Amino acid sequence: NITLDDLIIIKKLGHGMFGNVFLSAHKTKKNLYALKTIDRKKIDNEKVQDSLILERKILMQLNHMLILKLIKTFKDHKRLYFLLEYVRGQDLFDVIRELGLVSDKDSKFYAGCMIMIFEHLHERDIVYRDLKPENVMVDEEGYPKLIDFGTARIVEGRTYTMIGTPHYMAPEVILGKGYGISADYWSLGIMIYEFICGGVPFGESESDSYAIYEKVLEGKITYPSYANPTPDSKKFIDQLLSKNPALRSGGSIENLKSNTWLKDTDWEGL
Ligand code: ADP
Ligand code: MG
Ligand code: MG
Repeated sequence: NITLDDLIIIKKLGHGMFGNVFLSAHKTKKNLYALKTIDRKKIDNEKVQDSLILERKILMQLNHMLILKLIKTFKDHKRLYFLLEYVRGQDLFDVIRELGLVSDKDSKFYAGCMIMIFEHLHERDIVYRDLKPENVMVDEEGYPKLIDFGTARIVEGRTYTMIGTPHYMAPEVILGKGYGISADYWSLGIMIYEFICGGVPFGESESDSYAIYEKVLEGKITYPSYANPTPDSKKFIDQLLSKNPALRSGGSIENLKSNTWLKDTDWEGL
């Protein structure tokens, strides 16, 4: 039974909202982990504490190859710690910046994986609410893994909290009209567009949230001349970026999976 004293810190992997994430190893067994630290001083508000409790609860109940595993949590007087499966690799944000554009083949693979993840989450009434390339790590074998469940929550029906990252937020999230799992499909549409075009479709050059919201609500999708979307990928992006949330999946996850762009996906073998 692993404790904090069994671990040594090797290097910093990244930083989060409330502290750093370190590569860490078991002193004797040598297994590698990612240790996410949360500075107690930075979380002295009830809402943030609740969301961390929920992050832990949700990650603890999930067991999926494409979702980061939480092994254990610790605490001391200064910090909270999440001991996580270590993903050796880079996130999709870096992949996109490095490649410029992601190939149609790879875009399909990542999109298929995200749909598998959503199927797993949505069956459990979990909405993720912050799908974006930075929250997807790609491991050494090329498989994406969803990390950072800080915004996920269990929703039966609708929720109203305006949360997420402006460029990836669905219109109904922005408008505060109540939303459900279909908000995740919208973010997936934004991400697929980003794979194919190298940038987001709405408000790419804006940094002010309100300017971005305006562009999202306007919802005009155009493709830059250097991008090569196929008719099928465009059709799928259009479907996911439907203003009407009910139209995004086409009624069910099975319908979503049977869209023509992803017709060659081996859903069992992914
Ligand atoms: P926050 O919730 O504060 O945004 P994250 O969970 O997103 O924190 O972690 C911050 C960063 O640390 C990530 O963007 C990533 O670069 C790195 N990181 C987090 N978890 C892992 C992991 N399991 N393996 C490797 N790197 C990780
Ligand atoms: Mg994060
Ligand atoms: Mg987080």
